[in-house]
Amino acid sequence: MIKGQVNISGQFHGMEEREHYLVRNPANTEEIVASFPKLKREDVKTAIESAKNAFKLWSTKKPVERSQVLYKASQIIESKAEELAILLTKEEGKPIADSMFEIIRTINLLRFYGTLITQEAGRVIPSQDNDTFIFTRREPLGVVGIITPWNFPLSLPAWKIIPALATGNTVVWKPASITPTIGMELVKIFYEAGLPSGVLNYVTGSGNEVGDEIITNEDVDGMSFTGSLEVGKDINKKVGNRKRFTRLQLELGGKNAVVLTKNGNINLAIEQVVRSAFGVTGQACTATSRFIVPEDIAETVLNKLIERTKKLAIGNGLDKGIDMGPLASQEQLDKYLYYVELGKKEGAKLVYGGNRLVNEEFKRGYFVEPTIFDRVSPDMRIAKEEIFAPVISVLKYKTLDEAIEIVNGIEYGLVAGIITNDPKEMKAFMENVKVGVVKINKPTIGLEPWVPYGGVKSSGNDVYKEMGVEAINFYTTIKAVYQGY
Ligand code: NAD
Repeated sequence: MIKGQVNISGQFHGMEEREHYLVRNPANTEEIVASFPKLKREDVKTAIESAKNAFKLWSTKKPVERSQVLYKASQIIESKAEELAILLTKEEGKPIADSMFEIIRTINLLRFYGTLITQEAGRVIPSQDNDTFIFTRREPLGVVGIITPWNFPLSLPAWKIIPALATGNTVVWKPASITPTIGMELVKIFYEAGLPSGVLNYVTGSGNEVGDEIITNEDVDGMSFTGSLEVGKDINKKVGNRKRFTRLQLELGGKNAVVLTKNGNINLAIEQVVRSAFGVTGQACTATSRFIVPEDIAETVLNKLIERTKKLAIGNGLDKGIDMGPLASQEQLDKYLYYVELGKKEGAKLVYGGNRLVNEEFKRGYFVEPTIFDRVSPDMRIAKEEIFAPVISVLKYKTLDEAIEIVNGIEYGLVAGIITNDPKEMKAFMENVKVGVVKINKPTIGLEPWVPYGGVKSSGNDVYKEMGVEAINFYTTIKAVYQGY
């Protein structure tokens, strides 16, 4: 068992004086991965104070010096990639190839922002006066609070922390309680790469205490949160009640749809939907959870979907060739079982799966069957609410307009996909769906770190995008300077 540590003021502490909680392997809950402290408000206050103190030094480092730390961190991660991937899978449950994908993305993010920061300072704007030189300066916000979920426990925090640090901010980061170990490793790597003390603080514990202190502490200058809509709404209210205006980025849930048209390749659609719906056990904000198919070919499509789903290899993500690991926690399992029952009650037809796996191989973990509901109508709760588990609803349509209406007829707006070879359908879809990301003949999961990302409607507050060049807009403020010659 790993003895978990937090980091406050650049020091790693086991915090023996605090209550600890256990982190279990979701593929085998008898295996304890780590124990971590539940910090108290006063600990978080100290972490915020230390980030505030470290800001003077870090923000005045030259971009190239900050870039060197990021590059060094990328090299360290590369040198331990396999070890980190195994840890990530043990803690979160996803197949090892998906963990490796998170590691590669983190390396790419470090190198991308490490380079970008040496290029981005502001811009020169021509003045109306001959004797005035006008330019803008990008300046860091100060102390940034970062609160993250468990489903991408490495690359998702990385896409917040890296642009924050690159632009000269200091950070207080709270990971999700069920996946703190891989986060601790990332913090260790940053310090090994030469990050000065106090620049990245790592605080574990409950959302209600540790998270709440970050949200309400007036010394935090900006906050980036990814998680559920419910918690996001609560945070939005609390931030609104602070004494001063505070920059807030919210990335929340999704209920992503893929539309297949009669001009699309059915086999391609099946491959991509199966991968995006079940690949990371449905626990991706970009997962496909609604499959919208033309009424007159629906039966053929459904049969192919079932046949392909039957072939998925379910098991411990550390084993070779596994397509789908366990759910990440008891809470996730309960949610899955709740929505399966709800779907049946609502009158949808359960055509595949719907059960927890309880035989010898699976009974110690949170393993479930990939699940398909047919005859789902757009007004059913299983077609509207985020389940965040391997459950897909099949819905039928007659015209593309109707399909787009179904895509848009929910409160979320994260990703939407279309499978078609008709450029007119691609254009109509891309222009009319209300989402932050459109995928054409591509799976809804899978994002590139140099591309802006974020949801609209209830999938995020959409003031700033994450990743890409755009991410640095959130972590910097722009000051205009008028200089007379
Ligand atoms: P969650 O909202 O329960 O928790 C997210 C984080 O917030 C955790 O660290 C948690 O401890 C903390 N938290 C909980 N209550 C808090 C409070 N009152 N104040 C401050 N912090 C608090 O979400 P989760 O179950 O960890 O993650 C799953 C959710 O995340 C899903 O809804 C999923 O769609 C969403 N998600 C969104 C994206 C995206 O980019 N849009 C990406 C990944 C996950």
